[in-house]
Amino acid sequence: MGRDDLDVEVPNLSHEDDDDYFGGCPECGYPCRNDGYLNYVLTHYYVCHQHRVRWAVGSNLFSSWRHEDEAVWDANKALLLTYREVDPLEARWTLGNEVRR
Ligand SMILES: [Zn+2]
Repeated sequence: MGRDDLDVEVPNLSHEDDDDYFGGCPECGYPCRNDGYLNYVLTHYYVCHQHRVRWAVGSNLFSSWRHEDEAVWDANKALLLTYREVDPLEARWTLGNEVRR
């Protein structure tokens, strides 16, 4: 991916079509939004940087992790550990927690 900056900057992965499907920051409220996801190995965590929250959406749903390495995952992990785990808005993949408009 040519990402040299492994600090706190997150690549703009442009998953705008996925934003709603994979949930939004509960602190931001509607309309649903997030700042994309970070991988820890093959698990994807969506985040909101403003509110420093994260939620896992699954593993190996996207192939992006295959193009990353341990340095990226270590940096992502370090950042993700400073974020609070939350239940996202529109968590429609969670049984019993469907939210319909
Ligand atoms: Zn937020």
